[in-house]
Amino acid sequence: MPADIGSVQLVGAGPGAADLLTVRALRAIESAEALLYDALVCREVLDLAPERCLRIQTGKRAGKASMKQQVINRLMLRLARRGMRVVRLKGGDPSVFGRVGEEKAFLSAHGVPVEIVPGITAASAAAAQFGFPLTHRGEARRLLLSTARLAAGAVLEEGWAAAADPQTTLALYMGRDQVAEVAGQLIAHGRSPATPALAVEKAGCRDARSTASTLGGLAAAVRAAGPTGPVVVIIGEVVAQADIASAHASPLERAQA
Ligand code: SAH
Repeated sequence: MPADIGSVQLVGAGPGAADLLTVRALRAIESAEALLYDALVCREVLDLAPERCLRIQTGKRAGKASMKQQVINRLMLRLARRGMRVVRLKGGDPSVFGRVGEEKAFLSAHGVPVEIVPGITAASAAAAQFGFPLTHRGEARRLLLSTARLAAGAVLEEGWAAAADPQTTLALYMGRDQVAEVAGQLIAHGRSPATPALAVEKAGCRDARSTASTLGGLAAAVRAAGPTGPVVVIIGEVVAQADIASAHASPLERAQA
């Protein structure tokens, strides 16, 4: 290992707005010499890096080509071996669907010092912005952060039992195109179709948009809203506390569901 090896910080950029960065993340970005960032990281945050900092975009939005994980790993290693302070910037919290485990293991195996800086995950941002809790005494004792997608892009078919528990708040990541399947599985496993659900697009950002429905009506509601940005879907009784007039179906609709 060369004496002047650099370091890599795996940093959570939060959900979008720069003022939702942690102070530690801000310091890391401000002193970065190389910034590798995912598609979800917004310009407002990228602009905080020094002008001379090397900026490399590593990810595109769903479905489009992204840099392969191995290429990203090698790139971080190469930059760190040049003695650079590398910041790997990811949307939300890097430990939530952020491949932080793979990247840390690779870098550590090559002797590169790695630090993880947490960030605000999309579910937390959505709950705060729309004024509801993710857990609630006597109502929601479990928070499940889940994706519907498997590595190959297939939809998860097993393991929905915990998510179907009425006391579970489910936060669904990377599930925009799978909401129909997920809702179907949850209902098949016994979750009430009347359970409140909220799809939040661009949570934490000033132009966030929410679509309220029930589990039974979720797929149609999301389809009608036609989101183009990242969407986190929150399903659970806690959503009834959201600060939007239509945050949950009327008692009548719920009784009929
Ligand atoms: N590490 C990120 C999640 C990365 S996976 C985090 O902690 O938030 C990418 C998925 O996260 C998206 O498909 C979407 O479901 C969700 N997501 C990320 N940022 C979001 C945002 N600002 N608003 C809504 N959903 C978001």
